[in-house]
Amino acid sequence: MIAKIINGTKIALKIQNKIKKKIHKRKKNGLFQPGLAVVFVGNNISSKIYVKNKKIACKKVGIISKICRLSISVTEKKIIHTIKNFNSDPTIHGILIQLPLPKKFDTQKILRKISYKKDVDGFHPFNIGLLCQRNPRLRACTPLGIMNLLKSYQIKIKGLNALIIGASNIVGRPMMLELLLAGCTTTIAHKFTKNLNQYVKNADLIVIAIGKPNFLHGKWIKKGAIIIDVGINRLKNGQIVGDADFNSNYLRASYITPVPGGVGPMTVTSLLQNTLYICENYYDKKF
Ligand code: NAD
Repeated sequence: MIAKIINGTKIALKIQNKIKKKIHKRKKNGLFQPGLAVVFVGNNISSKIYVKNKKIACKKVGIISKICRLSISVTEKKIIHTIKNFNSDPTIHGILIQLPLPKKFDTQKILRKISYKKDVDGFHPFNIGLLCQRNPRLRACTPLGIMNLLKSYQIKIKGLNALIIGASNIVGRPMMLELLLAGCTTTIAHKFTKNLNQYVKNADLIVIAIGKPNFLHGKWIKKGAIIIDVGINRLKNGQIVGDADFNSNYLRASYITPVPGGVGPMTVTSLLQNTLYICENYYDKKF
């Protein structure tokens, strides 16, 4: 069996074009332009690239972006003050804190300071709670992007045994809630999971997000499984690879996302989608 490759770049472009048209129409109808604020603390090189990409993506679709760069020596109080200013800024509709924050900060405490209405990353307990209760509003970007990919390829997932490998707050946990909501029977594995391959061989759908290059070998998986690879790992030779070994999985899976060009482009697209969602649902009309 040879897998069908899920082209995230193509789907992301399609969705971005739709967003661009909607924003153009808003402007024509006299509605305000969406605004996104990005708070970036420190100097993490990968984060720098991600922030730059977000800025470019915003510009492409007509979202105004404000990047607030704070030095690593900034105080928690100053970060919170910055967030509060954006919370009350009528030109800003989405706020995100570029993660990871330098280790000395209490990330959860800081994320909770973002108004749940401007929580464009969907990490606020209010939004995670709503997803948990089957009533999602602002949904975490990477899982939302993956759900959009599955939908675009008309992959039926109701009733499937889904395994999520990796249990982080930003990918694994909200992913589990999304798949549960979509009718999958979900299992979540993490670094303490014993006999991971027993879960792998039973899974019809695997989402892997652990940050370990080529960790999941194709010989483990069920024939015809759907493989969604979230990992982004840079090898010493500069090559970017996922958490699943592409070549061996490609020969056994039914669908597979490549790295790069799979989940990555969808994550930034979800950010744009969420910014527009906030405008349409919280600010165009009163809730
Ligand atoms: P994280 O470090 O916060 O969490 C990793 C998780 O993997 C943890 O729950 C840990 O228990 C689990 N884990 C580690 N080793 C394991 C093992 N051997 N077996 C099973 N579970 C194991 O990571 P994260 O922020 O969720 O990111 C994971 C990967 O996804 C990274 O490569 C990151 O760069 C990438 N990522 C990609 C996107 C995207 O848009 N494509 C978005 C976010 C993260």
